[in-house]
This record gives sequence, C-alpha cells and structure tokens, in this order.
Amino acid sequence: MIPFLDLKAQYTSIKSEVDAAVLGVLASAQYVLGEEVARFEQEFASYCRVEHAIAVNTGTSALHLALLAAGVGPGDEVITVPFTFVATVSAICYTGATPVFVDIEPTTFTMDPAKLEAAITPRTKAIMPVHLYGQMADMDTIMEIAELYGIAVIEDACQAHGAGYKGQRAGSIGMAGCFSFYPGKNLGACGEAGMIVTNNAAEAQAMRMMRDWGQSRRYEHLVKGFNYRMDAIQGAVLRVKLRHLDAWTDARRAHAARYSELLRGLETALTPVEAAGRRHVYHIYAVRCRDRENLHRSLTEAGIQAGFHYPIPVHLQAAHQDLGHRAGDFPFAEEASRTLLSLPIYPEMTAEQIGQVAAVMEQDVYAS
Ligand SMILES: *Cc1c(COP(=O)(O)O)cnc(C)c1O
Repeated sequence: MIPFLDLKAQYTSIKSEVDAAVLGVLASAQYVLGEEVARFEQEFASYCRVEHAIAVNTGTSALHLALLAAGVGPGDEVITVPFTFVATVSAICYTGATPVFVDIEPTTFTMDPAKLEAAITPRTKAIMPVHLYGQMADMDTIMEIAELYGIAVIEDACQAHGAGYKGQRAGSIGMAGCFSFYPGKNLGACGEAGMIVTNNAAEAQAMRMMRDWGQSRRYEHLVKGFNYRMDAIQGAVLRVKLRHLDAWTDARRAHAARYSELLRGLETALTPVEAAGRRHVYHIYAVRCRDRENLHRSLTEAGIQAGFHYPIPVHLQAAHQDLGHRAGDFPFAEEASRTLLSLPIYPEMTAEQIGQVAAVMEQDVYAS
C-alpha cells in the first residue's frame, strides 16, 4: 500500500520535538495567540523574506482578510482562476465582491497573464493568482499589468510554502501572500491554521486588528472584526515544523525529479513542467493523462492512492452557478480538471516506492 501522503510518518520522524512543543503550550495555559504564535509569525515572515506576518485560523481566513485590507467589498470584482481549490473563490464571495475568472496556462496550470488584461474593468479591485500545486504563477507579467492599472495583487500561496520566482519567495511579491497550514499542506499544523505575509505596515496592522474582533486594545473595537485567531498549539507545532521545511522541500523536489526521469517518454501521461525561473515545491505532482480513469484504476488495484485535483473547475460547481458560466468558458481549466492525475508525493516516501508507482504507470493494464 502506498498512501497519497503519510502524516503519521512525518509525526514519527519529529515526535519528541512536537510533543515537547504541545506540552509546553498546555503547561503555559496560554492557548490562543500569545508568545508561540508571535514567534512563529516572526520566523515565518523571515522565511518568506517579508516584514510582517499575521497568524490566523485558516488559509481561507487569510485570503478573506487580505482582500478586506485591499479595500475589496460589495460591487467590486476580483480576478482569479477557475482551476483552484474552491476556497480561493469563496473568500472573494465573503467580501461581497464578484469573482471574475481568467483561464490557466495549459502547461503550468496557473493564471494565463495573456488573458488578464481583457478581464479588467473599472470595478476590478484585486487580482488573486494561485500558485497551484506549489509552482508560482507568472508574477512578473501579472505585477506589470496590475501596476499599470493600479490594482492590488494578493497571492494565494496556500500550496506554495517556500516556492520561488526568480529568487523571490511565494507571498513576497504581491501586496499580500496567503498561506494555509491545513495538515496535508507542505507545512501543516495539527489542525487548522493560516497566515498572511506582507511588506505593508498599515495593512498588516489592519489585518492584525480584524483577526481579533477589530480590537486595538482589549474591548476597544475600532473596526468590525472576526475571530480568526491562531491557536497557540498550532503556532508551537508550526515553529517546530518550519525548521524541517527546507529538508522536506528538497525531498519533494528529489522525488519529483525521480518520477519525471522514470516516466519520461511515457505515451499515456505527461510529467509536470517547472517553468524557467520558478522553483516548484511539489505540493502536488500531477501528470496529464490521455485516459485518467484507466491509470487511476491500475494504480488503485496495485494499492497506490492517487487523486484528482480538482475534478470540477470552480466555474462549473453548483455552488457558483450564480456567476452564469457554462462548459466551454475556460477550456484549459476544463481540460486540466478532466486529465490531471495526482501521484503520491510526500517527503518520507522512498525511492523504491516512487519506482513502484512508476512501474504501474508504465504497465497500465487498462490502457486502450
Ligand atoms: C488549502 C487551500 C486554501 C484554503 O486553506 P484552508 O486552510 O483549508 O482554509 C485556499 N486556496 C488553496 C489553493 C488551497 O490549496
């Protein structure tokens, strides 16, 4: 059996550190925000090479607060991609703004900047590229267009901890970058958690207030806020795990390179592309399949867990039919949702396991 990811293996490898961190929080009786969270904010800001980090309870809350800090509200439009996890679009809807989609590039599965300008209107308030699977969008081109029109860029970096674009880190290029520490992400909490990073001091302060009931001081509420605070246990655990992130990312990249080497020239599936100047952190290693169902069946029967991320693009989801889209509106997003198959990838995987997955891919007993 080869699982899609193995959180138990990760815990086992750092058990004594994690246990000590959690017990420390229990003993401190400081359970929400506090010293551990403040330290994690500093350490994660420096990891992303930015000035400020604001810890929150989920990646979705991070996206929501970053949009509010950019002044997004009812009547505004926010441009994003339809090929993403639904939370990107939900966060836009929380503000009362309308999500406007542009299609993805067929090779990187990230926002196609060539289609961006046509989507801009006088109501466009923000652009939210998604660094999908751990590879950053084409930020130079996106920033150039955004600056031309004076529109804020908010990076959905929820899958891209430590990813790079021409030497810059994910989250550090736009007005703000948003991260999720959901357990299965490259840096994962023991529960829910998220973070916003930014170099803008005023917006950092606004988001800090909004995450904690809009308080400047206790019981003084300057703005209408939220309860989006991070648990101290998550801050403490994430501080431990951040120290291992670079080694885990190196392992993911090595596994991806091994997969791509073994699967090169395969007729039934194309391996992922790392675009020039970008450092992919392989949150997901997805291959483009001629017949995804057959490959998936072969893998399942061999005891290998593979997945679809994501089988229905957001513009075709029942929940977002009010936007009035139909099949055919975003052909590359639709093609990606039909053809991509995510293979198991996690730092603790062995070269032997990668070889086993590749061997099943090559045999593909159901190939037509
Ligand atoms: C995981 C994820 C989110 C949401 O993060 P949560 O912590 O689950 O709220 C948003 N966008 C993308 C691209 C994600 O992968």
